Amino acid sequence: MAEPAPRKRLKDEEVVAILVKVILEEGTVASQTRLAELVNRQLKRRGAAVTPARVRVLAVRSGLVGLTVRTRSDGPTPDLERCPVCHSKLRRTANRTLTGATAQTGYRCTRCPWWTGREMRVPHHYVFQAKVARAEGGGQISFVPAQRRL
Ligand SMILES: [Zn+2]
Repeated sequence: MAEPAPRKRLKDEEVVAILVKVILEEGTVASQTRLAELVNRQLKRRGAAVTPARVRVLAVRSGLVGLTVRTRSDGPTPDLERCPVCHSKLRRTANRTLTGATAQTGYRCTRCPWWTGREMRVPHHYVFQAKVARAEGGGQISFVPAQRRL
Protein backbone atom coordinates (compact mmCIF):
# COMPACT_ATOMS: atom_id res chain seq x y z
CA MET A 1 0.00 0.00 0.00
CA ALA A 2 1.50 3.32 -1.04
CA GLU A 3 1.54 5.99 1.59
CA PRO A 4 0.26 9.40 0.58
CA ALA A 5 3.04 11.99 0.33
CA PRO A 6 2.89 14.13 3.45
CA ARG A 7 2.60 17.85 2.79
CA LYS A 8 5.11 19.02 5.32
CA ARG A 9 6.75 22.36 5.80
CA LEU A 10 10.30 22.30 4.53
CA LYS A 11 13.22 23.55 6.54
CA ASP A 12 14.87 26.70 5.22
CA GLU A 13 18.16 24.83 4.71
CA GLU A 14 16.45 22.27 2.51
CA VAL A 15 14.96 24.97 0.30
CA VAL A 16 18.28 26.83 0.12
CA ALA A 17 20.13 23.69 -0.95
CA ILE A 18 17.70 23.14 -3.82
CA LEU A 19 17.47 26.75 -4.95
CA VAL A 20 21.24 27.16 -5.03
CA LYS A 21 21.56 23.99 -7.10
CA VAL A 22 18.86 25.24 -9.48
CA ILE A 23 20.50 28.64 -9.91
CA LEU A 24 23.92 27.11 -10.48
CA GLU A 25 22.44 24.94 -13.20
CA GLU A 26 20.55 27.78 -14.84
CA GLY A 27 23.14 30.53 -14.38
CA THR A 28 20.45 33.19 -14.42
CA VAL A 29 16.81 32.90 -13.39
CA ALA A 30 14.71 35.74 -14.76
CA SER A 31 11.96 36.00 -12.11
CA GLN A 32 10.95 34.77 -8.70
CA THR A 33 7.98 32.94 -10.25
CA ARG A 34 10.36 31.03 -12.49
CA LEU A 35 12.69 30.29 -9.57
CA ALA A 36 9.83 28.91 -7.48
CA GLU A 37 8.72 26.82 -10.47
CA LEU A 38 12.17 25.26 -10.82
CA VAL A 39 12.48 24.62 -7.09
CA ASN A 40 8.99 23.14 -6.89
CA ARG A 41 9.78 20.81 -9.75
CA GLN A 42 12.48 19.31 -7.51
CA LEU A 43 10.13 19.20 -4.54
CA LYS A 44 7.21 17.59 -6.31
CA ARG A 45 7.97 14.00 -5.43
CA ARG A 46 8.37 14.99 -1.78
CA GLY A 47 4.88 16.44 -1.74
CA ALA A 48 6.13 19.86 -0.79
CA ALA A 49 6.00 23.30 -2.37
CA VAL A 50 7.32 26.78 -1.72
CA THR A 51 5.99 30.21 -2.61
CA PRO A 52 7.89 32.65 -4.86
CA ALA A 53 8.26 35.11 -1.96
CA ARG A 54 9.81 32.53 0.35
CA VAL A 55 12.24 31.36 -2.33
CA ARG A 56 13.27 34.98 -2.95
CA VAL A 57 13.92 35.75 0.72
CA LEU A 58 15.88 32.54 1.22
CA ALA A 59 17.91 33.12 -1.95
CA VAL A 60 18.99 36.56 -0.71
CA ARG A 61 19.69 35.38 2.81
CA SER A 62 21.80 32.44 1.62
CA GLY A 63 24.49 34.88 0.54
CA LEU A 64 25.17 32.57 -2.41
CA VAL A 65 22.91 34.18 -4.95
CA GLY A 66 23.30 37.50 -6.72
CA LEU A 67 20.13 39.56 -7.00
CA THR A 68 19.03 42.36 -9.28
CA VAL A 69 15.95 44.26 -8.13
CA ARG A 70 13.84 46.24 -10.55
CA THR A 71 11.65 48.88 -8.96
CA ARG A 72 9.04 51.46 -9.82
CA SER A 73 8.41 54.72 -8.03
CA ASP A 74 5.30 54.94 -5.93
CA GLY A 75 4.93 58.16 -3.98
CA PRO A 76 6.77 59.21 -0.83
CA THR A 77 8.63 56.53 1.13
CA PRO A 78 6.68 55.44 4.22
CA ASP A 79 8.26 54.49 7.55
CA LEU A 80 9.75 51.07 7.06
CA GLU A 81 10.91 48.47 9.55
CA ARG A 82 12.13 45.73 7.25
CA CYS A 83 13.39 45.37 3.72
CA PRO A 84 10.49 44.65 1.32
CA VAL A 85 12.78 42.36 -0.69
CA CYS A 86 14.43 40.15 1.93
CA HIS A 87 12.92 41.19 5.30
CA SER A 88 16.33 42.17 6.69
CA LYS A 89 17.05 45.24 8.78
CA LEU A 90 17.26 48.60 7.06
CA ARG A 91 19.66 51.45 7.62
CA ARG A 92 18.43 55.02 7.28
CA THR A 93 20.24 57.07 4.71
CA ALA A 94 20.83 60.77 5.14
CA ASN A 95 22.16 63.68 3.18
CA ARG A 96 24.12 66.56 4.58
CA THR A 97 22.41 69.84 3.77
CA LEU A 98 24.14 73.14 3.01
CA THR A 99 23.83 74.21 6.63
CA GLY A 100 25.57 71.04 7.78
CA ALA A 101 22.46 69.42 9.19
CA THR A 102 21.56 65.93 8.11
CA ALA A 103 18.28 65.14 6.42
CA GLN A 104 16.82 61.65 6.33
CA THR A 105 16.40 60.66 2.72
CA GLY A 106 15.50 57.00 2.71
CA TYR A 107 16.66 53.50 3.54
CA ARG A 108 19.24 50.99 2.47
CA CYS A 109 19.01 47.27 3.12
CA THR A 110 21.78 45.81 5.27
CA ARG A 111 21.76 42.59 3.25
CA CYS A 112 20.52 42.96 -0.31
CA PRO A 113 20.98 45.64 -3.02
CA TRP A 114 17.59 47.31 -2.44
CA TRP A 115 17.48 50.94 -1.36
CA THR A 116 15.06 53.82 -1.58
CA GLY A 117 15.22 57.59 -1.44
CA ARG A 118 12.40 59.99 -0.65
CA GLU A 119 10.46 58.45 -3.50
CA MET A 120 9.54 54.87 -2.63
CA ARG A 121 11.23 52.42 -4.98
CA VAL A 122 8.78 49.54 -4.86
CA PRO A 123 10.40 46.26 -5.90
CA HIS A 124 8.44 44.51 -8.62
CA HIS A 125 10.83 42.24 -10.45
CA TYR A 126 13.82 40.14 -9.47
CA VAL A 127 16.61 38.46 -11.41
CA PHE A 128 18.71 35.82 -9.68
CA GLN A 129 22.23 34.94 -10.66
CA ALA A 130 24.78 32.41 -9.55
CA LYS A 131 27.54 34.21 -7.66
CA VAL A 132 29.99 31.42 -8.36
CA ALA A 133 30.29 30.25 -11.93
CA ARG A 134 30.68 26.60 -12.70
CA ALA A 135 34.28 25.56 -13.15
CA GLU A 136 33.71 23.64 -16.35
CA GLY A 137 33.52 25.23 -19.78
CA GLY A 138 37.04 26.58 -20.23
CA GLY A 139 36.85 29.77 -18.21
CA GLN A 140 39.94 31.94 -17.88
CA ILE A 141 40.07 31.81 -14.10
CA SER A 142 42.22 28.73 -13.62
CA PHE A 143 45.97 29.12 -13.43
CA VAL A 144 47.53 27.86 -16.64
CA PRO A 145 51.31 27.59 -16.94
CA ALA A 146 52.90 29.27 -19.94
CA GLN A 147 53.28 27.02 -22.95
CA ARG A 148 56.67 25.43 -23.27
CA ARG A 149 58.51 26.19 -26.48
CA LEU A 150 60.27 23.45 -28.32
ZN1 LIG B 1 16.92 43.45 1.55
